[in-house]
Amino acid sequence: MSGFPYADRYAVHRTLPEEGTAKEVVLDELAAMSAAENPTWEGGQCSGTMYCGDHDHYDYLNEAFSHFSYVNSLQRDMCPSSTKFEAEVIAMTLDLLGAAALTETTPAGLVTSGGSGSIAHAVLAYREHRPTSGRPNMIKPETAHPAFSKAGHLFGVEMRIAPVDPATTLVDLDWVADHVDENTVALIGSACNYGYGTVDPIGDLGALALDRGIGLHVDGCLGGFILPFGRELGYDIAPFDFSVPGVTSISADTHKYGYALKGTSVLCFADKALRNDQYFYLTDWSGGKYCSPGMDGSRSAGLLAATWAAMVHLGRSGYRRYAEQIFATSATMQAAVRSHDSLRIMGQPSFLFSFTSDEYDVYLVNDFLRTRGWRMNGQQYPNAIHMAVTRPQTQPGVAEKWALDLADAVEFALAHKDEPAKSGAIYGGVAGGMSEEADVFIKAVMADMMDQQSSIPAP
Ligand SMILES: *Cc1c(COP(=O)(O)O)cnc(C)c1O
Repeated sequence: MSGFPYADRYAVHRTLPEEGTAKEVVLDELAAMSAAENPTWEGGQCSGTMYCGDHDHYDYLNEAFSHFSYVNSLQRDMCPSSTKFEAEVIAMTLDLLGAAALTETTPAGLVTSGGSGSIAHAVLAYREHRPTSGRPNMIKPETAHPAFSKAGHLFGVEMRIAPVDPATTLVDLDWVADHVDENTVALIGSACNYGYGTVDPIGDLGALALDRGIGLHVDGCLGGFILPFGRELGYDIAPFDFSVPGVTSISADTHKYGYALKGTSVLCFADKALRNDQYFYLTDWSGGKYCSPGMDGSRSAGLLAATWAAMVHLGRSGYRRYAEQIFATSATMQAAVRSHDSLRIMGQPSFLFSFTSDEYDVYLVNDFLRTRGWRMNGQQYPNAIHMAVTRPQTQPGVAEKWALDLADAVEFALAHKDEPAKSGAIYGGVAGGMSEEADVFIKAVMADMMDQQSSIPAP
């Protein structure tokens, strides 16, 4: 038997079957695979990724999706509803992110397929909006998401990587100021970053961007739909939205704390002109005049409908209520970390916290937590592990289980401090580069995801 997923239970399709399978059989298989996989996160022990975790909510979104799942939102004459959904999703997001403060420009937005999509469109917009004599560059804090580097790679924009303060994890402003030149099109800050859950000094970055006459993109992919409510609830989070002078665009993922289905994000622009500069048109194509607002061509109107449905159903009070539970749970879980002298929280986190140890490899803690069912995210330089608190962690008993399991994990780490950590080999930092081995490792991970068809037994 190959290791191919579910090969022991279901027919494996190496070719398109000549005769189709009955719908009930297909649906039963799908239901069974979903039911087998959902327990990996339903108990609340998985960091991030399942932001809402509420099956009633997912059923509601699926119903909203079903009304338009087959509609191409590019053909607007056939689906004026898409114009309503998209316009309202953008307007509500702009409003949430402080666009009312923009009195001299016309704010605008774009719905994209995810955080990486929003970031890519932002990088493209800055490149197109500010023609440079040399190769354009942007400056990103080391902690900013890899999607910026990916976009730079795709669009020929150099990413200058600014170091961060090891204690606060926040970007080194002097370094940024020293590295702006005539080809710099924009700066980047995160609110908050994925690794540590910390918020860069957006006010200072905005002042610098204004002073140099360049843009500032704030990556709110993770925080955009939860930090505004954290601020309302009184948590100590500095302003990061369009109310901060100098902020020219913000990405915010509806498919994370927006509690929508996977596959949407919103990119907000302080000024419509910036967005419009990344439009693509081909007006003299024999197939007809072509234009699309972003990189995608056909897009599912169902995702627009479901995103809209999530937002109008939850409303501010719904998002605030969820944020309140998440921030409170995160605080409880952080307190458990702080109760151990051998653990150190990185910087001033928010709903997402990260910790390391100066006494032992913190991946020893992770090794133990895995035996208790926890699925944390791993970091490097220094080795650290993080928990992005989502709604599944707010269920009764989860934070208490965290405190108990963490205490046992710390005891385990102290007792085994001279042994190598198992999970560290996969997630931890590799001393001294090792780029060739890393290359082999990454390709193996990709092959594991993409090339399993080669392990399907021949008929
Ligand atoms: C998730 C994330 C992204 C990228 O978003 P995808 O939806 O995974 O493409 C970018 N920035 C931050 C801070 C994120 O957490």
